[in-house]
Amino acid sequence: MEAWLYILGGATGVRALTNLGASCYLFVVRLGKEIHAYLIDAGMESTDSDGAVSAVSWLAPQDLEKLQTILDSVGVKKIDHVFLTHAHRDHAAAVALKKIRRHLTHDSRIICTRPTAAFLPRVLYDQFNVSNRRKENLPYDKDDIEETLDRVHAVKRPEILELVPGKISVLLWRNGHIRGSCSVIFIIKSGKTEHTFMFSGDYATHAQLTTDGAPLPPDDIRISHLLSIDCTNCAEDVAKGTDEKTFWKREIIRMADDAHNTNKAGGWFLTSAFALDRAPTFARKLADLGLRVYLDGPSARKLWDIMESEDGFWCMGDRSVNANSEEIEILNAVGSALDSNRKVGAIVAPSGMGHGPVAQYMRELLPRENAMYGASGYLAPGTNGYKALRAERGSTILLEVTDKKFEEVRVNARCEQYRATGHSLRKSLVRRIGEILRNSRSQKPFVGLCHGSTPALDWVQAQLPEFHTFRQDRPEDRCIRLL
Ligand SMILES: [Zn+2]
Ligand SMILES: [Zn+2]
Repeated sequence: MEAWLYILGGATGVRALTNLGASCYLFVVRLGKEIHAYLIDAGMESTDSDGAVSAVSWLAPQDLEKLQTILDSVGVKKIDHVFLTHAHRDHAAAVALKKIRRHLTHDSRIICTRPTAAFLPRVLYDQFNVSNRRKENLPYDKDDIEETLDRVHAVKRPEILELVPGKISVLLWRNGHIRGSCSVIFIIKSGKTEHTFMFSGDYATHAQLTTDGAPLPPDDIRISHLLSIDCTNCAEDVAKGTDEKTFWKREIIRMADDAHNTNKAGGWFLTSAFALDRAPTFARKLADLGLRVYLDGPSARKLWDIMESEDGFWCMGDRSVNANSEEIEILNAVGSALDSNRKVGAIVAPSGMGHGPVAQYMRELLPRENAMYGASGYLAPGTNGYKALRAERGSTILLEVTDKKFEEVRVNARCEQYRATGHSLRKSLVRRIGEILRNSRSQKPFVGLCHGSTPALDWVQAQLPEFHTFRQDRPEDRCIRLL
């Protein structure tokens, strides 16, 4: 038996100092004369992060170009299946690219959880629509998207799927990041030996509103190697030494307190969050904490409806985020929260990093001294949210108001970053890595450090001398011989 891992995504060189890159891995297994290849995630890079006007809004994983050469070099004709850990753009939006689909056979499936399958059309059509609007080179057309969706195999509960009878099976296992997200665990048998390889996906050990924190893998599955682990929050001690278990809740309460104070002083509170899972979550939590909430945008509403439908659930730990309540007004016209007939409250608008619908509100509210803008999570450099957070009060920033249209906006409002994160914090993450690998059959298990900037990967690597670590930002680690 032989096995290799190729990291096709992430970022290397100076870009890796601040960029996480897209998620994309090729996992190759040779059993006797048979050879099998699996792709884990196919995300798009974020091109906003240069701060400049990009030629296109999308970019494939950085080494996807090399896929053909890699497959040729290991003697693989086709990719057996593609696995998607969740429906975020940086993990799923590249799956409809011809550069990936041309390597699939008639029987190749895109395997993901039922909620991810339900969200996937939105991820692909969102990218298509943005590219269409910007009149740029399209990543794929509608036929490409439909052909891709026809391949989806939706997994309804965490259970073992047999891929190659008696030899290769896989378990999708809850990982706490967003509704429907999962780790991918390969169990490979060769004669009497068994090797188990885990890709964490974006990973949170703490509970959030829509889903519980990641449990350990089942006791009877002994993870040999951890081929990717999410290091998003490891560049700094975000929790400042406090407990991760309650951190998420505390950050939401801090946000709600600031929103209350802003409203009391007659000003608007604005927060931005990804339309998928996050926007409904923040709307619900802020309403529960006594605020008048306006959720802007039909897209967030549609995704909320999917989350609440049967397709939105797949495992224990998934929780309903009741959409029906008087305290949350869902708006159909973007920007209409600020209509003069409405009382001040908290606006939740989609887009995690300050583009799309929320940009309209930022243009209106950032110049107001009594308003407040709160970012709810990670901000990539160069994005609207990043600029607003770093601007000195009274200075101006260049805000991308709509696609490729920039305007100078003065920042008089208070800006604050809340870290209600869907990724584990660094101390509990390191503890968790040890727990996952505690029964490994390998003397020095591999741990692939991924989804993090170079400073984040540096920190985690220094904590794990007992493991054989490799990292996505290092050119010499892009191909790892595992067995
Ligand atoms: Zn994610
Ligand atoms: Zn991610």
